[in-house]
Amino acid sequence: MRRQPEKKRGTPKSLFVHKGDQVVVLSGKDVGKRGKVLRALPRENKVIVEGVNIVKRHQKPRGQVITKIQAGIIEKPAPIWASKVMVICPGCDEPSRVQHRFLESGEKVRWCRACNSPIDQK
Ligand SMILES: [Zn+2]
Repeated sequence: MRRQPEKKRGTPKSLFVHKGDQVVVLSGKDVGKRGKVLRALPRENKVIVEGVNIVKRHQKPRGQVITKIQAGIIEKPAPIWASKVMVICPGCDEPSRVQHRFLESGEKVRWCRACNSPIDQK
């Protein structure tokens, strides 16, 4: 008997957004904001974008006076859904719907439809 593949939650998928991309936020409180992708979380289908979806963590002072520097409000970007962002093409500076293309070498690249060139510069 063939074993059925288990449907696991959070199966890693490849995201269309990669670390280091410039993206624009399409919805939510940070709509219209641009930022650099600090981390891509394919497993959760989320990305962490610089300066977007900032959450404030209240850090309690603890320990000795020396370590008190860490107390206070720490602001850090929280993950947002990858579907809420659009990759900005570095070539034409336009938010673009990413297309995938295969080069003659068999390499898969992300392609910008607006300026008809690869998004991934190497
Ligand atoms: Zn482009």
